[in-house]
Amino acid sequence: MDIDKIVAAIRSRDGSLYYPTTRLICLENTQGNCGGKCLSVEYTDKVGEVAKTHGLKLHIDGARIFNASAALGVPVDRLVRAADSVSVGLAKGIGAPVGSVIVGSKAFIHKATILRKTLGGGIRQVGILCAAAEVAVRDTVGKLADDHRKAKVLADGLKKIEQFTVDLASVETNLVFFDMADARISPAKLCQVLEQRNVLATPIGSKSVRLAVHYQISDADVQYTLACIEEAVEEILTV
Ligand SMILES: *Cc1c(COP(=O)(O)O)cnc(C)c1O
Repeated sequence: MDIDKIVAAIRSRDGSLYYPTTRLICLENTQGNCGGKCLSVEYTDKVGEVAKTHGLKLHIDGARIFNASAALGVPVDRLVRAADSVSVGLAKGIGAPVGSVIVGSKAFIHKATILRKTLGGGIRQVGILCAAAEVAVRDTVGKLADDHRKAKVLADGLKKIEQFTVDLASVETNLVFFDMADARISPAKLCQVLEQRNVLATPIGSKSVRLAVHYQISDADVQYTLACIEEAVEEILTV
């Protein structure tokens, strides 16, 4: 979103009685619904300045922030420097079975802990979850760049299938979206045929499909997936 548009959407404290007052700006990095693309440090810092100027807080939804860090080659702490708070996903690209971490000032965390308790989210025996999270942070973060490479291989292969369109430039991380150029193929049908071959893909609306690569997907799996997709297209078109 253009910085100008963010500024234009801010509603001031002394505005009309009929409008809510803006208190917070949230950014998502990477942007899950925009191809898994990254927000740059420069952009994030600019939004931080806008927040400061208008007396607002900045929160970063970093469900996939490690992917952004790997793709941009920028450490996570630098990427989020402008933010007041950050949530970090452990159960997305880095592969813990469950969990997110929220980061902020001492006072913010104290308030968040009380809210978590109020909402019934307290767990006493979290050590077992933390152990899995530690493995994810220790062993998987370093593998994300390779996931991104495999996603590009996948996207390149999909580009060669004439029934699809792929925007290669939008493949920055481990997510690959492709559109149906051939109206006879529906995303739901394609995903259903792929599932029979143990390839799990997500239909997005009536035109697109999303594939996600993670560290347990090998180069051979990528080639297998491409072969299955070609077969599935043929199967659907010949019925
Ligand atoms: C998955 C996701 C979440 C929620 O993550 P949890 O693991 O359920 O805490 C929040 N924001 C975005 C952008 C996500 O992709």
